[in-house]
Order: sequence, then C-alpha cells, then structure tokens
Amino acid sequence: MQIVVVCYDFYTMDVKSALKQYFGFNSFRPYQEEIINASLAGDDVVAILPTGSGKSLCYQLPAVVSSGTAIVVSPLIALMQDQVQALEKCGVPATVLNSTLTGSEQYQIMQRMDHYKLVYVSPERLADPDFVETLKKSNISFFVIDEAHCISQWGHSFRPDYRQLSKLKSMFPDKKVMALTATATKDVITDIVDSLDIPNCYQVIGSFDRPNLYIKTEQRVNGRKQLLSFLKDYRNEVGIVYASTRKLVDKLAAFLAENGYKVAKYHAGLADTVRTKSHHQFLTDKIEVIVATIAFGMGINKPDVRYVVHYDMPKNMEHYYQEIGRAGRDGLPAKCLALYGPQDLIMHKHHIQDIKQTDIRLHLKRKLELILSFMDTPNCRRIELLSYFGETFVKEACGNCDNCMEEVAFIDGTVIAQKILSCVYRVEEKFGINYVADVLVGSKKQQISNWGHDKLSTYGLLSDHSAIDVQRFIFALINQGYLLVGDGEYPLLKLTPKANPIKDISGVKLKEQKTEIKEKKSKSVKTDLGPYDEDLFEILKDLRKEIADEEGLASFMIFHNKSLIEMSQSCPQTQDDFLEINGVGPRKAKLYAEKFMRTISEFVSSC
Ligand code: ADP
Ligand code: MG
Ligand code: ZN
Repeated sequence: MQIVVVCYDFYTMDVKSALKQYFGFNSFRPYQEEIINASLAGDDVVAILPTGSGKSLCYQLPAVVSSGTAIVVSPLIALMQDQVQALEKCGVPATVLNSTLTGSEQYQIMQRMDHYKLVYVSPERLADPDFVETLKKSNISFFVIDEAHCISQWGHSFRPDYRQLSKLKSMFPDKKVMALTATATKDVITDIVDSLDIPNCYQVIGSFDRPNLYIKTEQRVNGRKQLLSFLKDYRNEVGIVYASTRKLVDKLAAFLAENGYKVAKYHAGLADTVRTKSHHQFLTDKIEVIVATIAFGMGINKPDVRYVVHYDMPKNMEHYYQEIGRAGRDGLPAKCLALYGPQDLIMHKHHIQDIKQTDIRLHLKRKLELILSFMDTPNCRRIELLSYFGETFVKEACGNCDNCMEEVAFIDGTVIAQKILSCVYRVEEKFGINYVADVLVGSKKQQISNWGHDKLSTYGLLSDHSAIDVQRFIFALINQGYLLVGDGEYPLLKLTPKANPIKDISGVKLKEQKTEIKEKKSKSVKTDLGPYDEDLFEILKDLRKEIADEEGLASFMIFHNKSLIEMSQSCPQTQDDFLEINGVGPRKAKLYAEKFMRTISEFVSSC
C-alpha cells in the first residue's frame, strides 16, 4: 500500500471553489450545500438522501475545507477502498485503516493521522482503546457514520458492530457527528438519532424520487424468456440481475452465458477470489450482466449501471428501493424490472415464520404485504413508492413507470373471483395455489381424482383459461385481500372475511396480460443534457476505457458518462474550455485534457 503524505492548506478555501478544485463539479446537487453548511456551522447532522444522490460529498467536502482529520465509519472494506481511491484521484489525502493492512502499516497511519483529511475505519475500530487514545491526541475535525441505518435493528441490514457507536458522544463530547443513510422509515431515523445521542441534530430528509429510473414489474410467467427479452436492449451495457438464492444465481448465470451474454456471478457461497474477480469485472465493464444475490450490493459505487432486474420479489420495500437505487446513479436513464409470482410470497412467508419474536415477525409480515401490493398495483409506481417512504409526489403521475406508460387492460373479475373463492371453499381450504388452479381448469392430474375433486361443481369452471392465468388471478385475489396464504406448515389458501359471503362480492378488477404499446425505450428517454453526438460519445468512451485499463481503474473513475456527453456537446479545444466541463477539476484536466481534446478535434476534422 502506498501511503500518501501531503499537507495542503485546505481550510482557507470556500466551499464552492473546493467543489470545483477537488471534485471537479460545477454545482451542488440538491441538499448537498445545505448539509455541508450545517456541518461547517458546527451542527450534528443526520442526512437521509436516496442512493446516488451524492452523500459522500456531503462529508468529504467539509472534511477538505476544515482543519484536522475526519473519521469516517463505513461498514464495508470494499466501499472504503473505492472511496479512498476516488479521493486520491482528486488529490485529497485519505486512507483506510482496517484489517487489510499489516500491523506496521496501521501503526504508521496512526502516527501520521494529521496528514490525512479523511480516515475510513470500520465500526469495531472505535472500540479499540489504542485507537481511541490516538484520536484523543489527534486533531479530529468530525465523525461521519456512513450507511447509518446499520445502527438500527429495524433497518434491513442491522450490524451489531454499529451499536458501539452509541459511545461516541460520551468519548468525544465536543466532536460533531454526521450520519448518512438512504433508509427513510421513521423508526430507523429515530433509532439513529437516539443511538448516536444527537437529539438536537440538523436533519435533512431529501426527496426519494429518482426521476431517471423507469420502474416496472411483471408477473413471472416464463421468467427466463422475460429476462432475455428485457436484456436484449442492453447489449454492451452493464447491469445487475438479482435472484433470491445461490442456486438460482448459478442457474441464471449459466443460462445467460449460454445465450451469449458476458456474465459474472456473485453470492456468499463463492470463493473470495471469485467474488473479487466478479466485482472487478463488473466495475471495469468487462461483463454485461452480473447475476447476484443481495449479498452483492452495499458499497457498489458504479454510476453507470443501466438496469437492475429482480428475478424474484424482494422481501420488502426498503430492500427494493435500495437495490434499484444502484441503477442510474449518473442521472442518465436506467430501467428497473421486478418479476414476482406466488412462489415468492410462499418463500418469504416461510422465512418469516421461523422468527420467534412476535413483534418482529408481525412487522416483517406487514412489510411483505406492502411490497406485494406494490408489485401488483395498477397505480403510478412512483407515487406508491414515495408514499411508502412518507413522501407525497406532487404530480398526478410520473410518466416514467410501466403503469403510466404502458397500456394496462383490466377485466371485470367478479365472476372469476367467485368461481375461485368457491373452489377454495369446496376443497375445504386445504390446498395451495397450484392445486386450486388445476381443479379450476379441469386438469386430469391423478391427484385430483384421488381426492375426488373432479366431482366438485367447481371442477373445470375456468377451463377457458390456462392454469398459469388462473394462478395469476388467485395471486391478485390474495393481493386484494380476498384470500390469504395460511401460516401453517404448508402454504394453503384460506378465505378471508372479505370473501364472505362469496355471492356478495363485487367490483373485482383483474389485470389482463399487459400489451406493451406505449413503452418507449429507456435509452430515448429525455435527459436534462440535451442532444449530443452519439458517435463522438462512443469514441470518447473507448478512449476512457483505454486509459482506465492502463491505470487499472474503473472507467467512471476517469470521467463519468455525463462529462463525456458534455464533451461531445461542447467539443472543448483549450485547457480552459475543458475545465468548464462538469466533472473536470484541475487535476484531471492536467492528466487527461490533451488526450481527450486531441480525439475530439480528430473527430471534428473528419466530419
Ligand atoms: P450516495 O452515497 O448518496 O449513494 P455517492 O456519494 O456515491 O452517492 O455519489 C453518487 C455519484 O454522484 C458519485 O459518482 C459522485 O461522484 C456523483 N456526485 C456527487 N456530487 C455531485 C455533484 N455535485 N455534481 C455531480 N456529480 C456528483
Ligand atoms: Mg454512499
Ligand atoms: Zn408513474
């Protein structure tokens, strides 16, 4: 490891100049300036902003312009390393201090704390008395708790190590704390404020809208076919396919490879070396798809992930939001597709049943119901998603989700519903979704005649539909509260009070399979950047890739897509023009301006 020792006179600089000077950005993103000012004014800060909104800058910039060293607590080693690498590229002295370093490396860093503007540590480090002693002797600017939801047991990724952070204020009463997360539910926020003991903190809760994400769900009828059809728009782009189990990840990865995709896979059952390789291939655009369990997630800092597919239903909205949030961090259009089916519900319920603590079990069950209804809703998904996080969307519809943009046909499902509910009643609520569907379509399966269910009045009542369609209808009735899947050992269908009496139910709407007539390709969605020359953009991407490969870095560490788009628009010809580009700071201009400008002028003169 190379230890950078540089002493800059940072703190004489104002925040706007530091933004350009060190990070290369021309302007702040929403909420950043407010958070930075609160921090510099000496407040404790809790900032809740969606993934990709630029939370790192909210502490990195104050760290750069303040005297002393900021201590950043972060849950993942990979995450810390990416951040430090990016900071070094911008000329900011930063380091990690974690177990990947040798004892003497760690010692050296502790001796030189004051040379760094930021030091990234894991939470358990703050329980180490030697380290606390070192901090007490150093000039600490403030503490940062990144991914602060890990502190809360209501959060979706509780980390016991984070609990130790509750001692921070008593150990360093005069040091300010900044906590950041993308999890916005009230119980988690309260837990963060209480645990860190910062009741008077300045709270910023930003909008959770990610307008550039196209949000779509589909019932999984033939999942593999649906996946292939989705991916065909994304050759030579990189995205993530999430699947719930390791086995499914293996199978889907093999399937996509057979179909000619450059694929990597990632799950906790793979050797460290395989996982590291997959992660690296993903970061450096060596593959098109990574198929992964949600073990692949936190700390992904790649801004140009163009899509996220959930092959099966996430277990709650927080997970879903966090996972789709990995797409389109560069602000350019990206698409999120979630597939779901009755099996997913059964699987999640099964896991929840094993939880002994009643309040937690009920809490999770409620969350499961909510995501299910989100998957199946006919309403604008953005409105539903934001309202889950307590936010009201101001427009009537978003115009960037399937329900806004694709034709959804409904049929009056009252009679179908009555037939299904009667059948559940006739089989005495002792069978599951597939079996009930089979009885309704009049299947000849042996099991049905063994039970004598081919003699029922409801046998074959829906024979003009396929078994898959009937399963979908049953699933919709679960979502609409007429049926539920029992809590016993087997997932049996039960009638709810809403279904009683069956003859009186009315107004049931069922979705026909969607016919996509209005859908626009995600690529052609308007961006706020205006038109640009796509050929030149592609050439600049190639050049960036060449440089990235040479330097062993990810392409986005050189320049973001947005910067390349701006270059293809403005075709800079001088160092000063080049510096105007958003994302270009003096350091990067010095390193790369010449190469990029040469390529641009070659392109221009060949036109
Ligand atoms: P978060 O932690 O909120 O998920 P990050 O801090 O990882 O988000 O930032 C997401 C991306 O946004 C990064 O690639 C970062 O360089 C970029 N970014 C942050 N602030 C700005 C800004 N003011 N202008 C342009 N890009 C920015
Ligand atoms: Mg972050
Ligand atoms: Zn919408």
